[in-house]
Amino acid sequence: MAATTRLISRLALVTGGGSGIGRAVCQRFASEGALVVVADLNEEAANETLRSLSRDHKVQEHMAAAVDVSSKQSVEDLVESIQRRYFQPASVCVNAAGITQDDFLLRLEEAAFDRVVGVNLKGTFLVVQAVAAAMVASGVSKGSIVTVGSIVGKVGNIGQVNYSASKAGVEGITRTAAKELSRYRIRCNCVLPGFISTPMTDKVPERVIHKMTSLVPLGRMGEPAEVADVCSFLASDDSRYITGTSIEVTGGLFMG
Ligand code: NAD
Repeated sequence: MAATTRLISRLALVTGGGSGIGRAVCQRFASEGALVVVADLNEEAANETLRSLSRDHKVQEHMAAAVDVSSKQSVEDLVESIQRRYFQPASVCVNAAGITQDDFLLRLEEAAFDRVVGVNLKGTFLVVQAVAAAMVASGVSKGSIVTVGSIVGKVGNIGQVNYSASKAGVEGITRTAAKELSRYRIRCNCVLPGFISTPMTDKVPERVIHKMTSLVPLGRMGEPAEVADVCSFLASDDSRYITGTSIEVTGGLFMG
């Protein structure tokens, strides 16, 4: 059950908020009292998430926005639009935007490598940089940035050389940002989902899903809400002495 007031008076930016894990994060944050900026490349999907927050009493104050996290200009425009609308920067940010474009190492095209790294790794860099700069400029008293890596960034995965490299890099960004930003009272942590049921994994063939699920000690795929629960903890003061860490949300998959 949600701790209902844990994020009250926090303004939270969630990229990739139009689907899957990002959408679940938006819903969880809103249910805990945060104002939420739902940002996604797919503006209609972001608006759909926004509408799903409508039961929350602050519905009129949440907003949806289009952003391409792989574009510096687009990310800067988003951060500025938040400042214009709320007269403050987001003090919580979750970087859930991400893509896959899978192929075997021996076949993967350069363009597919660049696209995945451009969104997952460079996109995380651009968002963390712009959001942190806005937090520092406004002197936030407690900032929390959550990045979304993946367990495959640690262990690798057949057919995902681009994706696993990008997600390993996300952890590097997170730890460095945590070290550099702690003096500004900004924490930065990473969640490492395992195998979570979302439109991203809907693309995975049934037999692969079956095989992966059989490897999960808890015996099933995870739900987006189960990742959102951890993001909520990391966003809130309940994790105030935690920075620079990665939390696996995998049902025990590839532990140790
Ligand atoms: P999803 O496909 O359901 O959602 C990803 C969202 O990101 C989509 O709404 C998409 O429009 C948006 N997006 C894509 N490119 C973008 C861009 N350039 N700018 C802004 N938004 C963009 O996927 P998901 O499963 O919810 O994944 C969310 C995050 O979790 C991703 O970073 C993914 O790599 C990571 N992850 C997912 C799993 C899993 O099993 N589903 C496992 C590990 C990590």
